[in-house]
Amino acid sequence: MNIILLGPPGAGKGTQARRLVEERGMIQLSTGDMLREARSSGTAMGRKVADIMDSGQLVTDEIVIGLIDEKLQGDNAGGFIFDGFPRTLPQADALGELLAKHGTTLDAVIEMRVDDAALVERIVARSTCGNCGEVYNDITKPQPADGKCAVCGASDFRRRADDTAEALTTRLMEYYKKTSPLIGYYYAKGELKTIDGLGEIDAVAAAVSEALR
Ligand code: AMP
Repeated sequence: MNIILLGPPGAGKGTQARRLVEERGMIQLSTGDMLREARSSGTAMGRKVADIMDSGQLVTDEIVIGLIDEKLQGDNAGGFIFDGFPRTLPQADALGELLAKHGTTLDAVIEMRVDDAALVERIVARSTCGNCGEVYNDITKPQPADGKCAVCGASDFRRRADDTAEALTTRLMEYYKKTSPLIGYYYAKGELKTIDGLGEIDAVAAAVSEALR
């Protein structure tokens, strides 16, 4: 099964994708994670996208489509979760073509709805484990008191450079201008399922499972 998790920054796409990886053995393809990896390993592409990412703007379609194309060559036994991709109409068209090229199809697009005020609150409180990617929130899920990640035990917590109020405003505008048209695009294809992304992680996970049934 191949699915897209669609929603604004802070909607919980990454958190739900990780659940699906654990529970169903799916493969998470997060273009944001791939780009951050390229930056930290200092590749030419990573250097090129750094300032754009920090400002909250989208990088070019060509770059992210190339990243996804590469990943689709690999093992797809568990199915793919597209997290943060596609984010523009040309990316959505390209994904359709890439899946066809690899002899597979898209099964569902899950739109996670969360209002803007909640997104800002979530994002400015967010940190992640630099080792395993577990997501923490200062208010709802604080980092463990012993300073070690509850999942992997590492003590390398990070805050994203673009998780600031300023970059978030740009990220939200990019979402409304360039990504939200995908809601209509997938609705018209009969592939869209919309869920409430505002509740507790378990409640949202239950809604995701229900949508995938
Ligand atoms: P994310 O981790 O998904 O919030 O992505 C972080 C940043 O990476 C975004 O603000 C963009 O600058 C860039 N990015 C990630 N995915 C894409 C995409 N599909 N298209 C364009 N830019 C992207």
